[in-house]
Amino acid sequence: RAKGTVGERICYYEKGMDEQARERRQLAADLRGAAARGEMTILYQPQRSLKDDRVNGYEALLRWTHPKRGLVPPDIFIPVAEETGEILALGEWVLRQACEEAARWGDGLTVAINLSAVQLSQASLPESVAQTLLETGLAPRRLELEITETAIIADKPRVLHILRRLKAMGIAIAIDDFGTGYSSLDTLNSFPFDKIKIDKSFVIGSEERPQARAIIRAVLALGHSLGVPVLAEGVETSGHVDLLVAEGCDQVQGYLFGRPGHAPSLLAREQARLAAG
Ligand code: C2E
Ligand code: MG
Ligand code: MG
Ligand code: MG
Repeated sequence: RAKGTVGERICYYEKGMDEQARERRQLAADLRGAAARGEMTILYQPQRSLKDDRVNGYEALLRWTHPKRGLVPPDIFIPVAEETGEILALGEWVLRQACEEAARWGDGLTVAINLSAVQLSQASLPESVAQTLLETGLAPRRLELEITETAIIADKPRVLHILRRLKAMGIAIAIDDFGTGYSSLDTLNSFPFDKIKIDKSFVIGSEERPQARAIIRAVLALGHSLGVPVLAEGVETSGHVDLLVAEGCDQVQGYLFGRPGHAPSLLAREQARLAAG
């Protein structure tokens, strides 16, 4: 098959595309109602402060266990859910579950929840979040919403209006995957945010590539001159930590400090830590 003519190759290529489209359609169909069927789980990954060396919160990360395929990663199913609009139901489910879970934690701990651009296009989002906070009893200052640069510029005036309303409720906004999206300094200038999360690609590359380290330094300077803390994602080695401490990074998140894990065990560990003083 490798020695096929150009025509054949095009044919294989098209079959590949066809199959991909079919698979996406199948995934889209399987996704409908997946949370209600109990196929979704939320894992929690700790976010640590480098200043006082303790956990200050957890990021909620969604997992889908497909009945036939097993675990499907969010990088695969979130884009499909965004295309079909299923992300709205899924997003509401995550918000409710994660707020309910966080309401059981110690008062100082925050929960960070990822928001899709599709959710940010809904004018009803602030009311829906307010309702969830009321019903779960979670204080707004303990909720942080993570959004990407690309989500902000998608429909800037509308998104800005929604973000201002969320901020007015006392909810924090973090820019996720900073440095990988399509952004401009104007976005940073006009957009109300409380934290910058440096994308993991810069951290993971920082020991080999001086450019990556220079970018980390520049983002830290940017965040600090704007008066917001900076968190580094993808911290996998003690070398990464040393570098981030030396550069004055505020918070870290990564496999070195804990992989995304089940909420009850995290809670138990935290309680044991608190009890031990
Ligand atoms: P994200 O929000 O940037 O989340 C961080 C991702 O990096 C997570 O992947 C996490 O497991 C992974 N990670 C954490 N520490 C390390 C590390 O030290 N090294 C490496 N290589 N990776 C690390 P995950 O859980 O597969 O999620 C991927 C993306 O899917 C998330 O990226 C987020 O954009 C999206 N996502 C996850 N849950 C949700 C959700 O509930 N709603 C929405 N809209 N998107 C979600
Ligand atoms: Mg995130
Ligand atoms: Mg990220
Ligand atoms: Mg990401």
